[in-house]
Amino acid sequence: MAAVALGVPSVRGVPRRAATPGGRPRPATPLLVDRYGRVARDLRVSITTACSLRCTYCMPAEGLPLVPRDELMTPEEIGRLVGIGVRDLGIRDIRFTGGEPLMRRDLEEIIGAARTAADDGMAASAPTSAERVRIAMTSNALGLDKRVGALVAAGLDRVNVSLDTVNREAFATLTRRDRLDDVLKGIRAALAAGLAPVKINAVLLPETLTGAADLLAWAVEHGCNLRFIEEMPLDADGQWTRDDVVSAADLLGVLGSRFRLTPAGREDPSAPAEEWLVDDGPATVGIIASVTRSFCGACDRTRLTAEGTVRSCLFGNEETDLKALLRNGATDDEVGDAWRAAMWAKPRAHGSDAVELAADAFAQTERSMGAIGG
Ligand code: SAM
Repeated sequence: MAAVALGVPSVRGVPRRAATPGGRPRPATPLLVDRYGRVARDLRVSITTACSLRCTYCMPAEGLPLVPRDELMTPEEIGRLVGIGVRDLGIRDIRFTGGEPLMRRDLEEIIGAARTAADDGMAASAPTSAERVRIAMTSNALGLDKRVGALVAAGLDRVNVSLDTVNREAFATLTRRDRLDDVLKGIRAALAAGLAPVKINAVLLPETLTGAADLLAWAVEHGCNLRFIEEMPLDADGQWTRDDVVSAADLLGVLGSRFRLTPAGREDPSAPAEEWLVDDGPATVGIIASVTRSFCGACDRTRLTAEGTVRSCLFGNEETDLKALLRNGATDDEVGDAWRAAMWAKPRAHGSDAVELAADAFAQTERSMGAIGG
């Protein structure tokens, strides 16, 4: 996709309003503020569109078109953008995603470059602070067992693993690959390497609802924090329909028949997951009601695609090409200004500025989750 302000008016459910900052000037702050008063401190960096699985709610059977190698951000470019983000723009959390981050052979180098840049950025921007920027990764864990030691040594702090079911047949059908055992091996390796708490993300689907309690039992037994997320219209095949969305209420009904669930609120106000204590704790289960209860009002994310464009919203189509700036010799200040301008135009919710937007209406995005980076 060309990294330009496309402003595509095609919308699921509502008109997209032009994201015009209007007459209101951007306040003179170095932070990534937007027109709705939110501040982005959480950076998601996609580093590839390649993946070892083909989850039906995310990827087409043949996979996504691969980004040519020379268009992917290099470890040096990622390090430079992380450095600008932490030192100049107030980024405090970094998460690598894709595609599947483990598909990059240079992942250790990428994490290492990000760690150095983040630590140097913190030392420059907040020299008296003991705060350390957290570097995490969202992964399907395939092959993680062989690389987790090197990734931790490079500076990785946390891993979220995507796992929708512990039923081997259901896993193979959903991911189009018979690799459940390898995923479980990866999770065990992450735990053994001290990456606890490992969070497990499960997309809530009609076909996984019956196995949801088994998945929770597995997570509790292995000390993992499980969170279910409602399926969003981000599948590459465009098959999503609102009618197929399994609601949080349905899930609570299924889990409640095996476990005692007590509402425990949210980790912090901007956390997307609402938590429940499982059998009085300490284990918890979370639900991210991304469709039925929009949490855009607290969104603190800024996203870089694998090609180095910044996206302010999962569902917005507007992208600003930071990698082109880097390659054309821009200074850190120029890159930072372009990033700030992109975030100032962040839509209010689900890719739209419409105030009457229903929680389950989404602007139609040209990229699927795997192409943006979830
Ligand atoms: N390959 C990595 C993984 O499996 O975690 C990272 C990329 S994947 C796109 C990131 C997250 O997006 C996963 O947790 C996945 O389940 C989630 N995801 C993908 N498509 C989704 C959809 N349509 N709705 C909700 N979540 C989705």
